[in-house]
Amino acid sequence: MSAHDKAPIVRAVAVGKRFGAFQALQGITVDIPVGEVLCVIGPSGSGKSTFLRCINQLETVTEGALWVGGELVGHRRVGNRLHALSDSEIARQRLKTGMVFQHFNLFPHMTVLENLIEGPLRVQRRARAQVIAEAQALLARVGLAHKSAAFAIELSGGQQQRVAIARALAMRPQLMLFDEPTSALDPELVGEVLSVMRDLASSGMTMLVVTHELGFAREVASRVMFMDHGQIVEIGAPDQVLLEPRHPRTREFIAAVR
Ligand code: ADP
Ligand code: MG
Repeated sequence: MSAHDKAPIVRAVAVGKRFGAFQALQGITVDIPVGEVLCVIGPSGSGKSTFLRCINQLETVTEGALWVGGELVGHRRVGNRLHALSDSEIARQRLKTGMVFQHFNLFPHMTVLENLIEGPLRVQRRARAQVIAEAQALLARVGLAHKSAAFAIELSGGQQQRVAIARALAMRPQLMLFDEPTSALDPELVGEVLSVMRDLASSGMTMLVVTHELGFAREVASRVMFMDHGQIVEIGAPDQVLLEPRHPRTREFIAAVR
């Protein structure tokens, strides 16, 4: 069975998001199958973060319908009616996704290992010994096994972002959302974070990555999606979108970023 035979991890059908009168997202229709790495590019203010935040329920969709991991986000269907979920049910749905932000948001007063085990122990109430073993394996995977006792502020930005990725993975998400994970880093630290993301992609993780790193997108993405003014302008194979964009707005954006 190929990945495409399974239900998509994300299904967005005509998703819109309004902030008052302002339409931040409009008519977003896309499926993200299991194992896909979808890179999202587009100018500042085009709605990239808002789309990720809707998937993670940091924002509520105002139009259309969004499914994550086979469940309608924020709602439950009972017969022909939709019921809004409670906060605790939303929190449970949110655990399907791990999110990595531009600013790493680690807990500064905790060690690296404590940062990783906090969620699995307190939120998921999993067994301590197993959580620690898994956290150590994840730190090894991001090349930071030797930093498990360090505090976040003792690490470089690149190391902190790798810890943030490991911390998100420690919750065993079905989907990883990355919102410009290297945009706040000094240029010499970008490569180590992209390398961890590349490994994660080859391990089969489903990933939605907002990035201006077009080289990474071309190499790692299954598809690239270009957004502008809250809409999907084009989506397709990396080489098609990045090298032979169909839409003039995509062409202009790519020329400007390079
Ligand atoms: P991007 O990530 O592509 O730079 P965003 O998704 O952050 O864009 O924002 C898309 C648009 O929605 C922007 O014009 C932004 O100002 C607006 N927006 C985002 N969040 C809010 C909010 N909470 N209230 C009002 N407007 C918002
Ligand atoms: Mg953004």
